[in-house]
Amino acid sequence: MTSKRDYYEVLGVSRDASQEDIKKAYRKLALKYHPDVNPDKKEAEEKFKEINEAYEVLSDPEKRATYDRYGHAAFDPTQGPGGFGAGGFDFGGMGGFEDLFDMFFGTGTRGSRRRGPTRGLDREMELEIDLEDAVFGAEKEIQVSRLETCDTCNGSGAQPGTEIKSCPNCGGTGQVRNVQSTPFGRFETVRTCPRCGGQGKVIEKPCMKCGGSGRVRKTRKVTLRIPAGVDAGSRLRMAGEGEPGQYGGPPGDLYVYITVRPHKVFERQGNDLVCEVPISMVEAALGAEITVPTIEGEHKLTVPEGTQTGTVFRIKGKGVPNLRTHRRGDELVKIKVKTPTGLSERQRELLQEFAREEHREKELPKKEKGFFDKFKDAFGG
Ligand SMILES: [Zn+2]
Ligand SMILES: [Zn+2]
Repeated sequence: MTSKRDYYEVLGVSRDASQEDIKKAYRKLALKYHPDVNPDKKEAEEKFKEINEAYEVLSDPEKRATYDRYGHAAFDPTQGPGGFGAGGFDFGGMGGFEDLFDMFFGTGTRGSRRRGPTRGLDREMELEIDLEDAVFGAEKEIQVSRLETCDTCNGSGAQPGTEIKSCPNCGGTGQVRNVQSTPFGRFETVRTCPRCGGQGKVIEKPCMKCGGSGRVRKTRKVTLRIPAGVDAGSRLRMAGEGEPGQYGGPPGDLYVYITVRPHKVFERQGNDLVCEVPISMVEAALGAEITVPTIEGEHKLTVPEGTQTGTVFRIKGKGVPNLRTHRRGDELVKIKVKTPTGLSERQRELLQEFAREEHREKELPKKEKGFFDKFKDAFGG
């Protein structure tokens, strides 16, 4: 009457297989068909059930002997006494995949599932600073929002005046013990109590302010020290300023990502600061001592006679310090020669005179040939 597959067939072992072979076969199949690791849960569950049922019988010499003699009928409750029938194998009592693993390999993963001290989460934020802060370093007060102990309930999660009771489900231990009968014998497993979440306590009435979590989000001010030399993209870590830990665990860290506001005068290139300084045509031609800006004030710079537009002068040590060595980069002054506009009559006369003089100079024989002379020579002009 039964459509049940033969137990030996289910485990893929011969009728005279040793206990060790049966155990081995079962272990292999149980790991393969455990519903937790199979995408097709339904089918795997059926298979898993069948495997366990077969193993439960074949692993027990007494039951095996009975099965060998009477077949499935021996375990069918409708077939009279002697069988352990329905409920003989309680699939529901089997734990998750980790239980099975623990059972086989004693990996102890079970222990880690208990709620121990948990480190708080890290938090991240962005902070925009001025270039001056990046060069000289600074201390910035920043607002950090994070979960803190609720001061209404002092973190208990219970509305003041109401009771916190020992958890009736676990008797206050926070853990639920479960003795399982498995093919390898009786195993005791310990789980976090689902009722109290491992706390061992239950709240009669949750705190109105924090909703029973015992924690509220608060904004507070902390001082961030910005080291001289940071650049856009630098990440500063503030140890312990993240979310608080749970069950006595340490808090997480706060990571501050730095961005730098564009500066009116300077552009950063590595550890150098670059700026463009306009000078007059006359200053460029005759040379001059000019005043140029630096990140920390003014600086006198001597521009030599005949300076061209685009010429770069380097002022040593007026750049950004290296974060580690603290050696400062340089300032690069890029000269831009301004062409005068809105000339007065007199200025125009002078420039025209200057032009005539320049023209006359060109007509004079030269020791060294200029570009145009070389050009003429080359093309026979
Ligand atoms: Zn509260
Ligand atoms: Zn409990």
